[in-house]
Amino acid sequence: MFGKEFQRKYALTEQGVRNTKKGAFWTVVVNLVVMGGAGILYLVMSGFMGALTEGSPLPGATPVIGGVLLFAILSFLTHLQQYRATYGLVYNEVKATRLSLAERLRKLPLGYFGKRDLADLTETIMGDVNRMEHVWSHVLGYLYGAYISTAIIAVCLFLYDWRLAIACLWGVPVAFGLLFGSRKIAARSAERTKKAAVRVSDGIQEALENVREIRATNQEERYLQGLNQKIDAHEKTTIRGELGIGIFVNAASVIMRLGVATTILTGANLILSGKIDFMLLFLFLLVITRIYAPFDQSLALIAEMLVSKVSANRMMEIYDTPIAEGTEVFEPKGHDIVFDHVGFAYDEKDVLHDVSFTAREGEVTALVGPSGSGKSTCARLSARLWDITEGSIRVGGVDISTVDPEVLLRDYSMVFQDVVLFDDTVMENIRLGKRGATDEEVRAAAKAANCEEFVKRLPQGYDTPIGENGAKLSGGERQRISIARALLKDAPIVLLDEATASLDVENETRVQGALSRLLAGKTVLVIAHRMRTVEAADKIVVLADGQVAEEGTPTQLMAKKGLFHHMVELQRQSAAWQLG
Ligand code: ADP
Repeated sequence: MFGKEFQRKYALTEQGVRNTKKGAFWTVVVNLVVMGGAGILYLVMSGFMGALTEGSPLPGATPVIGGVLLFAILSFLTHLQQYRATYGLVYNEVKATRLSLAERLRKLPLGYFGKRDLADLTETIMGDVNRMEHVWSHVLGYLYGAYISTAIIAVCLFLYDWRLAIACLWGVPVAFGLLFGSRKIAARSAERTKKAAVRVSDGIQEALENVREIRATNQEERYLQGLNQKIDAHEKTTIRGELGIGIFVNAASVIMRLGVATTILTGANLILSGKIDFMLLFLFLLVITRIYAPFDQSLALIAEMLVSKVSANRMMEIYDTPIAEGTEVFEPKGHDIVFDHVGFAYDEKDVLHDVSFTAREGEVTALVGPSGSGKSTCARLSARLWDITEGSIRVGGVDISTVDPEVLLRDYSMVFQDVVLFDDTVMENIRLGKRGATDEEVRAAAKAANCEEFVKRLPQGYDTPIGENGAKLSGGERQRISIARALLKDAPIVLLDEATASLDVENETRVQGALSRLLAGKTVLVIAHRMRTVEAADKIVVLADGQVAEEGTPTQLMAKKGLFHHMVELQRQSAAWQLG
């Protein structure tokens, strides 16, 4: 009952399964104690009935009061245990699950994040786990406990009188049959509600990201209208979904309660024909009110469980996505990067075909080509941010697809356009390059990357918080921080995406100076945008439509008068035109 299947179904950790078992156990005990209370009542009533009808002595006050007290104490203690086992323990499960999801996400290949957007993933880690938290703490233990205790009690009832037992319990399987029949409908509406919720959070996130554009273009009104529609749609699907489930749950509850009527009718018949006495019917009626209570509770909870399935599935999808694995030993001979007949596709979209080139240690290899030709893709693949579909990529002779990405990345510094900065101080943002670097080392790297000059102007110098994703810094300053980070790391391979867009001329010169310090002696793969870099490169790989069109030194390629020559001429003309 509580095996692997159960664990997957409710996205539980191993500890979670153990806790649920505990919760179910104490729920069974509580339900049996409550039944014991009914038993005490039955005994007392029998005593009185005997005194009334057969003139036997009245039951003494001591055993009656003793029985009631015993029941009260047992009831209190077992409820307390049940509370601890269901609510208390399970709250840890939330923390454990969020951590394990986050840990798993960290190890997933980057390609995964293209398929599921950020709002969606955040919704899983926060929203889905929240929904499951309620299921874990309030539902599972109770529900499975109720199944077990009802089975025990049903056996007892059958032993007492099978006819009354059937009259009393027939509604239970029918009610649950009805609910399981409605599962598909519920699951579908839950999926729809979920999607509507993601659209709302997507809409909000989009607005936050583009708040400047929206204001600048006077689109507030239109944007708000759009958001309103999304929220309305979410509300509607939610209401419709709950209504649908509500109908089934209530029908199931009514059917179960019909058992009271059939028990009375059957009981009356059996009494009239002299087959049972009135007290037995009384006992069944006592039990019946109690036996429905946990079921009623679980009926209400079943609706929630059906909804939670979607959440559990989304969590399991993260657990089920294979992580990029590899050995933790990476001992390359030198750091030449070799692309050997590499083919690659983002999901369905073919991007690279039969790409072969070598980027040598101590040289700058420039990737050149029209936008969309696959330059960034090559740079990312060389660090195993994705796994390729054909051919191989080797670093110092080692096939990188056999190396654990975390280990591999220790040998890489990346200075990309989209520098990721954290809402922390300048000091800590640079220190990310090398864990445990001293303040002195950080300052030295910052100085070499020409950060000193703007850091001095910040109110608290290196201890100034830089805002979320470096909001308080300019593009050039952000880039210099990321160069400082790379300098501090001092990895043998540097991947560089030149982006001139955000830099003014003065900044550009500063960044250039910092870069030449960073690149000396390394294997450098640069996505080149500036003519200056291209001309200074040791080797140029021209990409077109995901294939290598030309390859050689700048002089060789200029002499060849091919694609590269053409691009250089175009740039010269537009530069001349700009100056003119
Ligand atoms: P470049 O850097 O030369 O501009 P890219 O390597 O960024 O080219 O892109 C090559 C092709 O792959 C383009 O057609 C682009 O649309 C596509 N592409 C890039 N990144 C992704 C991604 N994450 N998912 C799907 N397609 C992508």
